[in-house]
Amino acid sequence: MFDYLIVGAGFAGSVLAERLASKAGKKILIIDKRNHIAGNAYDYYNTDGILIHKYGPHIFHTNSKDVFEYLNNFTEWRPYEHKVLASVDGQLVPIPINLNTINQLYGLNLNSSQVEDFFASKAEPVSRVQTSEDVVVSKVGRELYDKFFRGYTRKQWDLDPSELDASVTARVPTRTNKDDRYFTDTYQAMPLHGYTVMFQNMLSHPNIKIMLNTDYKEVIDLIPHKQLIFTGPIDSYFDYCYGKLPYRSLEFKFETIDSEYYQQTGTVNYPNEQLYTRITDFKYLTGQKHSKTTIVYEFPCAEGDPYYPVPRAENAEIYKKYQQLAATISNTYFVGRLATYKYYNMDQVVAQALTTFKKIMQEEPETHVNGQKNTIVQS
Ligand code: FAD
Ligand code: UDP
Repeated sequence: MFDYLIVGAGFAGSVLAERLASKAGKKILIIDKRNHIAGNAYDYYNTDGILIHKYGPHIFHTNSKDVFEYLNNFTEWRPYEHKVLASVDGQLVPIPINLNTINQLYGLNLNSSQVEDFFASKAEPVSRVQTSEDVVVSKVGRELYDKFFRGYTRKQWDLDPSELDASVTARVPTRTNKDDRYFTDTYQAMPLHGYTVMFQNMLSHPNIKIMLNTDYKEVIDLIPHKQLIFTGPIDSYFDYCYGKLPYRSLEFKFETIDSEYYQQTGTVNYPNEQLYTRITDFKYLTGQKHSKTTIVYEFPCAEGDPYYPVPRAENAEIYKKYQQLAATISNTYFVGRLATYKYYNMDQVVAQALTTFKKIMQEEPETHVNGQKNTIVQS
């Protein structure tokens, strides 16, 4: 009898498996329908020997000391600050939009305070910032919105920014200084030997068994277990009883190039003319030394693996119904990006899983850890 059957070997499932096995002595079976662990963070060496991310570029960044220190248990790190250029008006300029972006794009020589005035002169007053269009036009005006955000967002989501929650484009700030990093988090680093190795270390515990290539629905009735942790799409768990939750998918096209690098920086965004949204050159991310490099194009699409929940009010309404239904089931936890329908980064999923572990420990007064009743041992 397993104490926990965990569906999904991504961050949500693997963090919980690791904590429950190593800190609470639980017996775990983790099931994934894919042929590998690590969920969407899975990386591997392709036939040219280049480390690539199967499900698109994954750059680790967090402001949470707890999350970073937790993952420190399973990997060493290579410091890496991601930089992105956008292909706009025939130029490659930094995104997030910053002082250099404006000077380069318009052939100006403004300083920080002048660029602040520049943005203020272009910004459109918006009484209540609600949509992804509002976020951008209220800060930098419609021209920059059209150049950098409108086309990209329509491609990525098949929705106009005015139809998406503010939180989507708010992920990309506007700066008046010359900081050209994509993220400004305190901790920015990549697992030294890759994500998959980090997950192998996380899951290498005698109490954790792994079953791959298996949809949990095929085996759940055959495997005795006390509790279930589900990290797949919540609507699928409930057989879409309230209708399908929209998820956005991507097609990835990989190419290996016979030169050390393909482009000037880790990622180049293509907001406008192309069908793809961005090209990533993996060797910047991984730091690998190799005479060739591999790049990936991302083509957004509706069908395929569910990668992105779509943040907008009508979808939040549907999710709420599933969430309420989930709350009525005992011995079952829903955790992760797909199961809680949240546009979460990796670190947020780790934080959510660690919080769930604490909650489970509080709910299980009989749990004995290291001889003490219901004590969570911090590593
Ligand atoms: P997942 O990794 O999706 O894991 C869920 C697992 O459940 C999957 O392996 C799936 O196969 C399995 N599963 C589902 N249904 C079943 C079933 N019926 N039976 C068995 N198994 C099932 N985050 C960052 O912090 N930085 C980035 O740069 C970044 N880039 C990203 C780029 C792309 C293109 C995408 C799509 C995401 C990116 N993310 C990034 C987000 C990151 O991938 C997620 O936050 C994280 O992987 C979510 O982990 P999870 O465990 O919730 O879900
Ligand atoms: N975005 C955009 N132009 C860009 C970069 C981002 O319009 O050059 C918008 C787009 O809607 C995108 C969102 O901001 O989906 C979030 O961007 P991020 O780079 O965080 O996307 P992710 O890495 O999660 O795909």
